Amino acid sequence: AKQAGKRQVARLDGHGEAAPIVRNALIRRRLPEAFETHAFSLHYQPQLDLASGDCSAVEALLRWTDPVLGSVSPAEFIPIMELSGDIHRIGQRIINEVCAQARLWVVAGTPRRVAVNVSPLQLAARTIVPELLEALVRHGVAPELIQVEITEGAAITDLPRAIGQLQQLRDAGISIALDDYGTGFSSLALLRSLPLTTVKIDKTFIDNIDSSPADALLVGGVIDTAHALGLTVTAEGVERPCQLQLLRDLGCDAVQGYLISRPVTPHDLPPTCTSDATAPSDSGGPGTGLM
Ligand code: C2E
Ligand code: MG
Ligand code: MG
Ligand code: MG
Repeated sequence: AKQAGKRQVARLDGHGEAAPIVRNALIRRRLPEAFETHAFSLHYQPQLDLASGDCSAVEALLRWTDPVLGSVSPAEFIPIMELSGDIHRIGQRIINEVCAQARLWVVAGTPRRVAVNVSPLQLAARTIVPELLEALVRHGVAPELIQVEITEGAAITDLPRAIGQLQQLRDAGISIALDDYGTGFSSLALLRSLPLTTVKIDKTFIDNIDSSPADALLVGGVIDTAHALGLTVTAEGVERPCQLQLLRDLGCDAVQGYLISRPVTPHDLPPTCTSDATAPSDSGGPGTGLM
């Protein structure tokens, strides 16, 4: 009984929630119903352009609220979907929804560029280019309104293939951001060899930028290097005004983080232009809802 009790304890964390392995299995078990009932949706987080003061670019972030598990983070369920193969199915839904929403914003007179996270597996499967280009045509969306975010892992698995796929997107007019920069290998060679337009500096480097001179130096170095390569820089996870001021001083181009806005529904997005107080805040309408 003592053994069994210990095993029970080992399966629970301090909050009485399932241990990772159990939680994983639970998520996997709930996914088929989530697909069937279209339980996924997208939230959008604005990116503040520091030169213009515009918030006309947003990042689409996947949301899932399950009747049993409650709200589950994409950081948890995306890796599970990558293992199960569901990433291709959800990836297609995301692209469709992003293009539908981008079109709604154009029609509402408040065009926004939407950044969409793309899994390394979508790049590897060579599905992303035809899916995205087809969705742009179907929804009548200009390619300039879409940005694809990839992580370093995507490129390193099969660099020539990744370059080929990304170049096709670039040739079509879609911009490319390297996400979470600084957390992986972060090689300079990668910055040079991928057909990028933007580098997104990971939140872990932004967190202490206002208290750690070393972090500020590192971030300044990345910004200068990116600029030398003709790339723009977006800082992720900006939560405090002093971080924003420092990033401005370091020449950062855009910032994203709770200080500007959390990821929100299209309805709750702030106006596209911060200096235009007359812009309606619900200009994008309710969006097309669940996916
Ligand atoms: P990411 O693409 O690096 O997205 C940034 C994450 O940081 C988001 O978490 C966002 O909500 C969070 N964040 C933004 N600003 C702040 C801040 O000021 N403070 C803090 N503490 N967090 C902030 P989220 O939405 O939970 O997404 C986590 C990750 O899941 C994403 O990281 C991305 O890798 C993945 N993901 C999200 N949506 C998608 C999707 O549609 N497709 C794919 N393939 N992956 C996605
Ligand atoms: Mg991202
Ligand atoms: Mg990131
Ligand atoms: Mg991330």
